[in-house]
Amino acid sequence: MADKQKQIVVLDGGTGIALMDMGHTFITGQPLWSAAVVYTHPQDLIKLHEQFYVAGADVAVTATYQASVEGYKTKFDLSDAEALRLIQRGVELAKTARDQAEEKTGRHGYVAASVGPYGATLCDMSEYHGRYADTMTREELRQWHLPRLKALVESQPDLLAIETIPVVKEAEAILDNLQDFPGTKAWVTFQCKDGSNTAHGESIKDAVAAVVNYDGVVAVGVNCVHPDFVTSLLQNMAELSLSVPLIVEPNGGMFDHDGRPTPKEKLSEHVEEWVKAGATWIGGCCYVNPPDIADMRAALARLPGVTLLQKESRLF
Ligand SMILES: [Zn+2]
Repeated sequence: MADKQKQIVVLDGGTGIALMDMGHTFITGQPLWSAAVVYTHPQDLIKLHEQFYVAGADVAVTATYQASVEGYKTKFDLSDAEALRLIQRGVELAKTARDQAEEKTGRHGYVAASVGPYGATLCDMSEYHGRYADTMTREELRQWHLPRLKALVESQPDLLAIETIPVVKEAEAILDNLQDFPGTKAWVTFQCKDGSNTAHGESIKDAVAAVVNYDGVVAVGVNCVHPDFVTSLLQNMAELSLSVPLIVEPNGGMFDHDGRPTPKEKLSEHVEEWVKAGATWIGGCCYVNPPDIADMRAALARLPGVTLLQKESRLF
């Protein structure tokens, strides 16, 4: 129906760069990146998550993107059990922020536990090409992902955010694990090198088609892509006529796929185009901070035919 209201869900922005803006310069180049802050400065993470909720995000994504058992063990000299506990702590911090923000906003907030790619823990930008998957089997990837995934599921987030995935094989490996946890919900977003292909080179259409029918997958899309690629990526995904929401969480610009600097883009100026192209879950990634999310929510609220998530309505 042409006059049917579209329900839009506002996601948050990027945690790592926002933490750097708060003074955490030391996390640059560290294998754990923002996940280190879960251990060193948990209050700062609560503060940042809360800022995103208050700015207008319906969903906050936890700082577990680069968390790994081996990363925590090595950096902080912890046991396996302590490292797994710290991964769960990342989810608990977002829940605390959610509870605090709800008192201020009157809106219900959701917590998505970030599941980053194996390449993110290599700390060499591998998740922006995914070539490590050429020398790893799906089973090897599955086994690497299992301990963190299990810890995250046990911490009971509302859903998992399987994000910045550069290559289909890895998404499938993570979703293989997800089948061991019936009832767990997840979204899957791919990192893309242009307007039609994942970072590794599969077409976004094939990538999304490969993951969307797994049990538990409630939304699919792209994240940490340059804003210039978003409309084309949406058009490609829309050809599949999927029944699940399409997610876009671009970065704020600032660099092209080869790392060359580009001007920061104001995402709020693009949201109308993205909604028209089929996006219904919209947020940001690196260089998208709480004020940017506030601007995006305000721009979305002004669009005709759009309703934002209401307290009584459900995310999925
Ligand atoms: Zn990003």
